[in-house]
Amino acid sequence: MNQVTKIDFKKIQRISPSQFYSMKNCAYKSLLAEALNKKPLLPVSANAYYGTVLHKMLELISKGVIKNEGDFDKIFIEQINFMEKKLKAEGYGFFVPLQKKVKDFIMKKILLKEHLQNIPVRAFRANSVKFHSEKWYESNDGLIGGKIDLVIEVGQEVEVLDFKTGAITQDVLDDDGELNSEVKTEYKDQLKLYAYLYFENTGKFPSRLSLVDLTKQKFTVDFSQEECHAIFDEAKSLLKSTNTCVDTGAFSANPTEGNCKYCLYRPACCFYLNYLETDWSFNDLSGSVQNVLMFQNGNVSLFLEAGGQKFTISNFPSEKFDEFNGYRNKKINIFNLKKETREFFYSAIKTTVVYE
Ligand code: SF4
Repeated sequence: MNQVTKIDFKKIQRISPSQFYSMKNCAYKSLLAEALNKKPLLPVSANAYYGTVLHKMLELISKGVIKNEGDFDKIFIEQINFMEKKLKAEGYGFFVPLQKKVKDFIMKKILLKEHLQNIPVRAFRANSVKFHSEKWYESNDGLIGGKIDLVIEVGQEVEVLDFKTGAITQDVLDDDGELNSEVKTEYKDQLKLYAYLYFENTGKFPSRLSLVDLTKQKFTVDFSQEECHAIFDEAKSLLKSTNTCVDTGAFSANPTEGNCKYCLYRPACCFYLNYLETDWSFNDLSGSVQNVLMFQNGNVSLFLEAGGQKFTISNFPSEKFDEFNGYRNKKINIFNLKKETREFFYSAIKTTVVYE
């Protein structure tokens, strides 16, 4: 049975623009990540691990390390092998081979390869236009800092670009009730913070902020200098108030479906675990073990009680039988379950993780 080690909270020295939005929604998550040395307690999806590989490839293309198809094919295999080795070492071998677990694996690879024709970088070089790939920018006080994927400087014109391997936009309802596609707020915030960091480092603001997806579609983020200043001040005051919690020990969190669904620190979050006792909309359960049964085929079912409600969870492997029996009348927390069509019935899947 997995256990959460003692949580030793520590102050966060610096936040990155990519972290800001998540911290704004639930600062406790950032504190847990810091205390646990940024080691997630739950697996993410095969798609997310593949996304990390794709982003690394984009970085190498924009840096000019990958120059042609030969480089691409060789380095792609190396990066996939590296990720698969890491997944196995972390006990997530069920995501391997990624090619079989990721939807549209080949299609995404082909789309990525087309970035090789993203000649801007090489053309700009030829015209002695400056570009900075994966360059670190931080504020003068060192409190906000991060790597910008690509900065292109053409005379007085400066473009800051960030590459995304997933969806950049989301549907939002406008004032007339019409659905509109808009760049996600978290990405807008991230780019405005990059703009401010660029300003603090160079004395001028970029002229354009852009996001580029796998299909090479470019989205522009509108901004004003005042907005960038304001978001920078907001990020600093958020960091300060979050760190004050470490001094006072008065922690709070913001458990909601949107915040917690993909939080990889759920097993360590007492606020979420309390919330789970009365909210059963998640794919996680927290309750006391009432009974354990093993069927002839070796499948184990677990019967839990939480908040006066009984739950049945099937499909655990046979080796869980003795382990669960040792936890009768004790509370356990189970993450990443599959909900069955019958109410209060769940099944264990490959990514299911149990913590005491
Ligand atoms: S589980 Fe939810 S409330 Fe807890 S730290 Fe994560 S996002 Fe915040």
